[in-house]
Amino acid sequence: MSKDTRTIEALLKENRTFPPPPAFAAVANARDAGIYKEGEDMEKFWAREAAQLHWFRPWDRVLEWEYPLAWWFNGGTLNVSYNCLDRHLETWRRNKAALIWEGEPGDSVVLTYRDLYREVNKFAACLRSLGVRRNDRVTIYLPMIPELPIAMLACTRIGAVHNVVFGGFSAAALRDRINDIGAKVLITADGGFRKGRVVALKEHADTALAETPTIEKVIVTKRTGERVNMQPGRDLWWHELMAAAPLYTPPEHMEAEDPLFILHTSGTTGKPKGVVHTTAGYLVGVTTTSRYVFDLKDEDVYWCTADIGWITGHSYVVYGPLANGATVLMYEGSPDYPQPDRYWQIIEKYGVTIFYTAPTAIRSFMRAGPAYPARHDLSSLRLLGTVGEPINPEAWMWYYNYIGHRRCPIVDTWWQTETGMILITPLPGLTPLKPGSAFRPFPGVEAAVVDDRGEPVPPGKGGYLVIKKPWPAMMRTIFNDPERYVNQYWNRIPGYYFTGDGARVDEDGYFWLLGRVDDVINVSGHRIGTMEVESALVDHPDVAEAAVISREHEIKGQAIVAFVTVKDGVEATPRLAQELKEHVVQKIGALARPEAIFFTAELPKTRSGKIMRRLLRDIAEGRALGDTSTLADPATVAKLKAAYAEEA
Ligand code: ATP
Ligand code: MG
Repeated sequence: MSKDTRTIEALLKENRTFPPPPAFAAVANARDAGIYKEGEDMEKFWAREAAQLHWFRPWDRVLEWEYPLAWWFNGGTLNVSYNCLDRHLETWRRNKAALIWEGEPGDSVVLTYRDLYREVNKFAACLRSLGVRRNDRVTIYLPMIPELPIAMLACTRIGAVHNVVFGGFSAAALRDRINDIGAKVLITADGGFRKGRVVALKEHADTALAETPTIEKVIVTKRTGERVNMQPGRDLWWHELMAAAPLYTPPEHMEAEDPLFILHTSGTTGKPKGVVHTTAGYLVGVTTTSRYVFDLKDEDVYWCTADIGWITGHSYVVYGPLANGATVLMYEGSPDYPQPDRYWQIIEKYGVTIFYTAPTAIRSFMRAGPAYPARHDLSSLRLLGTVGEPINPEAWMWYYNYIGHRRCPIVDTWWQTETGMILITPLPGLTPLKPGSAFRPFPGVEAAVVDDRGEPVPPGKGGYLVIKKPWPAMMRTIFNDPERYVNQYWNRIPGYYFTGDGARVDEDGYFWLLGRVDDVINVSGHRIGTMEVESALVDHPDVAEAAVISREHEIKGQAIVAFVTVKDGVEATPRLAQELKEHVVQKIGALARPEAIFFTAELPKTRSGKIMRRLLRDIAEGRALGDTSTLADPATVAKLKAAYAEEA
């Protein structure tokens, strides 16, 4: 055993760099590197950005900090819907498209800022008429349809706290979230479209509602036209309520630290946590990062493919872009319906200029092959982004070549449900990009890579990614569990926010995410992040996706096992397995050589598309599976379990 088990070893070296295109850099929202210097005076920086929002009353103090509790912009009052809507109506933007929505069957809706304002005002009045007041909790369980952002913004208008539950979740997951937060009202739909089929949302909701004592009213919007059961006295139709609603609802003057929403984490590493975000700091954080990271301009058509049921959808489909007066594209359905080129078709149809998606999606596009994007004119694109998992350098290159056609910078943005906003990211007009690196902390944010005593590790060495100072959009607590907030995030490495992710910083100051600390693989005393071994595998031309774990081994102690999916048309043979082992050795060294390669058609993922390595460990070590409530497809795990047992 090596003596040092407190850090993580870094093996992968990546030397390609891509400077910002000069034409992009010349007019970028962040084009002066002085922005990093300005960020060093953190309070001044965030105050300057906050001043661009509309306040009913200005704040007294930018930051009060009593470790680990933060209050941002205390004394200030504001309203999120006012900032996302009302203030744009005073400008030419009133007739600009706020939302361009495309349904999975191909129907579409465009709402101008004025339209969206009207719908939000009316729906806010509906909620009020049902007795929803400031600080009441409202659960939203909807497909990706315009009613979803309308419902969220309506909650913010009257000061209600929303909890969006991803529309793909089961009745049990919905029930648990409703009961976790004690919601008074549920907003849902008759159904939604997914891969050409109808998802029976109201039916799932009915099952959940049998065990949710706090829900008083249910509002149901029509999407699919399926027949649904409406319980008299409890269930109300959206369109009927809206028909009678007044056109204007005055925005509540919310305190800066009033809760804005509760959102549960993805559940990749365990049971999801109900993260609480508050009003002013959150809005300042997402508005600022949207403007600089995505370089939002009035001419843009901006598309973030995340479901609004995840933090990415909250911050970068709804609040950040709308606060900036952007045109947001929203798509209801699946990326591969009816064909694996659906995203590219939508980009061409609407002339999308900024496109933000997840590595899991990029790897599935790679698997299907470049012929699909090649069918479409993608020349409107000028900026690409990724979020959700570390992006393997080969997936980055594929995205760069086949989607961005070597013209578009890629922003690899690291952040979490808990952080509310992007924290580590390139600025596309300033940063020479390295494939697989998320660059460095956003201005006004301080991060470091440390060992478990909080000592910085030298450049090139892996360790724990921590955030050293509070930031405006940071979570304030876990709903109903303030102790867990302190223990999980602030007591692991005293003095710092513990992210749970491993990282290294290279000689140029670039951050490289190495994967979850919980997933670190341990071979002969060497602690290795999952990211690097997986990237070495994905680097092989036949591999689409890989997940590695270390398994207890009777003789050796620990062994690396890799679960691999191959590209379409490739045959998974023992010879290929052998070749892949050699490939890993050649890319990063003998240390990381997988003992076993296990081919599979699918990897177990969360509903938000993240690989759940803990379930693979459970399978490999023959344990009962941990929390599976956020697993996308239970059949995947059942199949893997059976196949693994057969082989092992
Ligand atoms: P849970 O906390 O319940 O286990 P989760 O961590 O997957 O679930 P999210 O908040 O959705 O919940 O995901 C945040 C995590 O996603 C980060 O901690 C990190 O591991 C990963 N991540 C997000 N963006 C990036 C990125 N650009 N590079 C590397 N990892 C990323
Ligand atoms: Mg997490």
